[in-house]
Amino acid sequence: MTDALMNTYSRLPVTFEHGDGVWLWDTSGRRYLDLISGIGVCGLGHNHPRVTQAICEQAGSLVHTSNLYRIEKQEQLAVQIAQRAQMDRVFFCNSGAEANEAAIKIARKFGHEKGVDAPHIIVAEGGFHGRTLATLSATASRKVQAGFEPLVKGFVRVPYNDLGALERVARNNPYVVAVLLEPIQGEGGINIPGDDYLPGVRAICEENDWLMMLDEVQTGMGRTGQWFAWQQRGSSPDVMTLAKALANGVPMGACVARGRAASVFSPGSHGSTFGGNPLACSAALAVLETIDEMRLITRARELGARMSATLSDALQGVRGVLSVRGCGLMIGVELDRPCAGVVLTALEHGLLINVTAGRVIRLLPPLIMDESEAMAAVQDIGGLVRKFCA
Ligand SMILES: *Cc1c(COP(=O)(O)O)cnc(C)c1O
Repeated sequence: MTDALMNTYSRLPVTFEHGDGVWLWDTSGRRYLDLISGIGVCGLGHNHPRVTQAICEQAGSLVHTSNLYRIEKQEQLAVQIAQRAQMDRVFFCNSGAEANEAAIKIARKFGHEKGVDAPHIIVAEGGFHGRTLATLSATASRKVQAGFEPLVKGFVRVPYNDLGALERVARNNPYVVAVLLEPIQGEGGINIPGDDYLPGVRAICEENDWLMMLDEVQTGMGRTGQWFAWQQRGSSPDVMTLAKALANGVPMGACVARGRAASVFSPGSHGSTFGGNPLACSAALAVLETIDEMRLITRARELGARMSATLSDALQGVRGVLSVRGCGLMIGVELDRPCAGVVLTALEHGLLINVTAGRVIRLLPPLIMDESEAMAAVQDIGGLVRKFCA
């Protein structure tokens, strides 16, 4: 391993050479089933022919022009996303953190415009929003923040899935202008709030004239069995951020807004050199079309429910397993002990999984996985977890 890389990751001892669908092959030709999809990025799996074709064709004609000029594919993509979200406008960038930076800037400008000179944004315990200075300040993890102080000011933290806590802030803090939450917490451990949470947040935001901003970077693009996780409860946000699966691995983020939030920015307020370039937009357009044509939203919902149920059965009565929870193809198994070691054992068995929040095994499989692969995979994982807990 080279010393020329900054020491930011403790990597597993494997290098992948090529991929096809749900499978990856390492440099020695060994095959692995990918149940984490590059951390929720390759929703259509690896090397999806439609995405590959879109990237190749676009690369063969034009990769980048900058936002000094109109970009046809960017305009088409914005319309496609806005339609699916029933929202009004999109700003394109290159990552989840950047999408959240845009959302935070929208909230602050929205606040200033209504006369709040030190606007605050409510964020949640367990939340993850990225690694830039503003987004790590919004993130709940001390590990993410430690050593990078001073943090960006203007965030108020409340417990997740707790409407009472939001109401208390509403009574006591006149500087709040927005709430930024994940509809299901991903890095925080696949934390699924109660059915009344998002509708309750919506109502509190309306009563207090706050923007409801949802970080759908991990949950969006069909993973939870809806285009966007909030659609399950119909409590539409004012601002929503996307990234991970948006362009199936070509770096791309988006900040989507409706109503007043959609008109906060004007020329000069925000920008990105790369954001929404023809290459990324072509890939994302291919992703949206393929999800529709292959009915992958329904597949994520149905297959995910079966996987969670099968995994739950397989782990029934296993001491050490606290819960199996899932929403579509976002699945977590919470143990009563740290379990980072399971990842290596799974790797040795040819399965790529991940552990988050120390003791939650996380699966974010590709949406294109077929039934038999999925069922075999959860049986295998059930077996590994059983052994680990024994
Ligand atoms: C991954 C993630 C981010 C950060 O995305 P990057 O592309 O790594 O900047 C932000 N929010 C959520 C919910 C995420 O899962």
